Amino acid sequence: MGSLPGGGELIIIMLVLLLLFGASRLPKLARSMGQAGKEFKTGMKEGYKEDPESVEGPCPFCETQVAEGAKFCSSCGKSADEIVAERQKQKSA
Ligand SMILES: [Zn+2]
Repeated sequence: MGSLPGGGELIIIMLVLLLLFGASRLPKLARSMGQAGKEFKTGMKEGYKEDPESVEGPCPFCETQVAEGAKFCSSCGKSADEIVAERQKQKSA
């Protein structure tokens, strides 16, 4: 005893959880926790997807304002893909 602290405590925590929530409610609790985690992940993915796809803002090559949905920079002619890629490169640098 004493060489593995936490092992005995973990069992006590499990017993307390069983007493608090009841054995029948634990699977439901685990399921709702899993669902919340999944929804959080999809939310993160959607938030990440929206940002780099928007071409609106100053062109990283010539500083000209590029309109939302534009395919090319009206000043230097760089494509929307190049503008987005260059922005990400500058952001990570
Ligand atoms: Zn430009």
